[in-house]
Amino acid sequence: MLKLIPLFSSSKGNCTYIESDHLRILVDIGVSCKRVTEALNQLEVPSETINAIFITHEHSDHVSGLKVFLKKYPIPVFATNGTFRGIKEMPQELAHPFTPNHKFQMEGLTVFPFSIPHDANEPCGYTFFNKTEKVTVATDLGHINLELLNIMEKSNTILLESNHDVDMLRTGKYPYSLKQRIIGNFGHLSNATSAKTVEYLIKKGTKNFILAHLSEENNFPDLALETVRSQLKIGNIDLSDISIQVAQP
Ligand SMILES: [Zn+2]
Ligand SMILES: [Zn+2]
Repeated sequence: MLKLIPLFSSSKGNCTYIESDHLRILVDIGVSCKRVTEALNQLEVPSETINAIFITHEHSDHVSGLKVFLKKYPIPVFATNGTFRGIKEMPQELAHPFTPNHKFQMEGLTVFPFSIPHDANEPCGYTFFNKTEKVTVATDLGHINLELLNIMEKSNTILLESNHDVDMLRTGKYPYSLKQRIIGNFGHLSNATSAKTVEYLIKKGTKNFILAHLSEENNFPDLALETVRSQLKIGNIDLSDISIQVAQP
């Protein structure tokens, strides 16, 4: 059994819960320790039973609650060296740096941290898999390429970024430089690109999609969902056994 449950997901704060037969994992702690603990309590998962924390990158929407969380619950943290360098006051005794794009094992679970195109020190997404299942966390993607698609394909469940609607972003109130950053090759994935990615991955066998890391300024859950649905309609994709949800902020 391999579960992926987004606890928080938006450009304001991210935290995802992953559970395997022997492990309880958090990917990112980008909201307060209190809110993470409350969300875990709702799943009847006491915070002290978390075995490992994986960090995608050092931007505050992914690490803002980490320091306080670790003070209360000294749990091992896994990330790239570059990410650790970017996290302020990381307790060294809890830091377990890894080399991205290399698999490693943990209690029957294989972890594959993969490099992502994003403007941070050394960012990565994650796939976790056992003998029969595979789940993927893929947000903060400036663009999609074949290598990323190959990594993500055949996941049972994918948490995929669907950050912004390009027209909303272009006409929105963000300063020009920020718009360029988001739209750029190392920024964030648009609804349209996310929709094409979903179409490709359905053809490769994925059935469960959770659209994630939505911008609160330049997107709406219904718009993200509708963009994907219309892409799939154009592609004549049978949706009868496909689940597409939007992660709650
Ligand atoms: Zn980021
Ligand atoms: Zn982010």
